[in-house]
Amino acid sequence: MLSTHLTPEDTGRMHDMYRHLHANPELSMQEEHTARYIETQLEQLGIEHFRCGGTGVVGVVCNGTGPVVGFRADTDGLPIKEDTGATYASTATGILDDGTVVPLMHGCGHDTHVTAALTAAKLLLRQQQAWSGTVVFIFQPGEETAAGAKAMVSDGLWDKAPRPEVILGQHVFPFPAGQVAVTSGNAMALADSLKVTLYGRQAHGSQPQDAIDPIVLGAHIITRLQTITSRELAPLSPAVVTCATFHGGLKENIIPDRAEFTLNIRTLTREVREQVLAAVERIVTAEAQASNAPAPLIEHLYDFPRLYNDPEHTDRVTAALQAELGEEQVHFHEPKMGSEDVGWLGDSIGVPTVYWFFGGFDPADTSPPVNHSPHFLPLEEPTLSTGVRAALASIGHYVAR
Ligand code: ZN
Ligand code: ZN
Repeated sequence: MLSTHLTPEDTGRMHDMYRHLHANPELSMQEEHTARYIETQLEQLGIEHFRCGGTGVVGVVCNGTGPVVGFRADTDGLPIKEDTGATYASTATGILDDGTVVPLMHGCGHDTHVTAALTAAKLLLRQQQAWSGTVVFIFQPGEETAAGAKAMVSDGLWDKAPRPEVILGQHVFPFPAGQVAVTSGNAMALADSLKVTLYGRQAHGSQPQDAIDPIVLGAHIITRLQTITSRELAPLSPAVVTCATFHGGLKENIIPDRAEFTLNIRTLTREVREQVLAAVERIVTAEAQASNAPAPLIEHLYDFPRLYNDPEHTDRVTAALQAELGEEQVHFHEPKMGSEDVGWLGDSIGVPTVYWFFGGFDPADTSPPVNHSPHFLPLEEPTLSTGVRAALASIGHYVAR
């Protein structure tokens, strides 16, 4: 078994690293500083590394023959103004694609993921006699926009790095620090974001007979879309169809010539995803015809792949986590309708994934801030050391002598 012992010096360095990363978040696919920081840390450890997918960094630790294991940590921050009161709170800003300057925060805790992975790499190097094989550390950019895993795979990740037999990964979440939570099978949702533009005919508000009203059309569509989950899908096939933006018109006495709305769709399987997307297209098109309106434009903004935890590997990793952390610290959770793009790293080459959550908050805190809240601030301990222990225990399950 690999030792997960951290000396006081290790812990101090880990906390410095975490605070540095926390204070310097970057937007998805713009993680230049973070990538260079990771490269510097890998260089100091003497770990071979290469860039992949722009701001992605891959560190390969080879230690003799044996299994190859992939371990993924995502690196991006979010456009959120931090309000945690931490001495190391971020004051960083970034620039969105449209030129808007935004405040930045590690509001999803990806700084804890990078810190845990780099510290685990350090401990692996320290005890090379205790294991044999290869560990591929994948520091993936752009998780929040579902761009990073795709970018790394299309940049030839699996031509450049040894192919692993499993991809492991973890995410900090608002439950007690020291605990982890695992699910087997479908773990997180596939997600699709769509933009729909409805076309009508503009007219004076007093003369509806001359208009084709895209707002009334939109109202019918939004209402009818609710029947996909309530009337079309089987009750045990979970899905979410959310319309969170709707824009149309400028003045109360002008019926506009267009309206726009966006949809966010979550499903747990590829089959249900296809069914929901087809239903959306059918309903939008048919309602436009019913309104005598021109054909609407449906655009796909982005999609997240499935996150499927391979049951056999999940059982094995769960046992390793229980052995390391204690059975009472390892919980099981229901599938989440949130999304993650880690699944694409393994699915793109048919390699299984195991992904779990680790807690980041005081057990006495009954309503800790959720990920993406401006108040999201994991406790440094035992959050970070649990992340390191979980990483090493799961990696060690495959490569320990
Ligand atoms: Zn997030
Ligand atoms: Zn996240």
